[in-house]
Order: sequence, then C-alpha cells, then structure tokens
Amino acid sequence: MAKTELQETAELMAAREGVPLDRLFDHMRERLRNSTYPTKNCLSPGVIEDERLLPLLAHMLSCPMCAALVDVAWKNKGGADVRARKR
Ligand SMILES: [Zn+2]
Repeated sequence: MAKTELQETAELMAAREGVPLDRLFDHMRERLRNSTYPTKNCLSPGVIEDERLLPLLAHMLSCPMCAALVDVAWKNKGGADVRARKR
C-alpha cells in the first residue's frame, strides 16, 4: 500500500527531529510548549506567500549542502547558530 503524503511528511519530520515516528506528536507538542514563537525573525504568512522565496526555503530544508552554505553565510554576518536547539 502506497504511503500517503501525510505519512511521508510525518516520517520526514520524525527523522529531522531525531525521534521515533510514534513519539513525533508528543515531541512536537513539547517543542511547541517550549517555543518562543513568534520571534522578530520568524517568517510571516506574507513572506511565505512570496513565490520567489518558497522554492528557495523548500530546497534549503531538503539539501544539506545549501543549508550549510546558508548557515555559514549567516554566521559570517554575525548571526547565531541557526541549527543549535535548546533541549
Ligand atoms: Zn542545494
């Protein structure tokens, strides 16, 4: 039986978060509870709707090399480590 888009998305998120799939819901609820969202740097719905930006963001999330390039460029501009997570 083919996986649904929801199953694929959940599996991708679980892998990205480093948690077993059956713990994903609890994990995301915990992250939300500890979240400081929205910060001044969070994306707004208007930014997400920018058709030039969305393909770039989607690519960066799926391509480790481009994510690393953005990370280095951001740090070179004095930005904080974007991949550091508070646990
Ligand atoms: Zn890339």
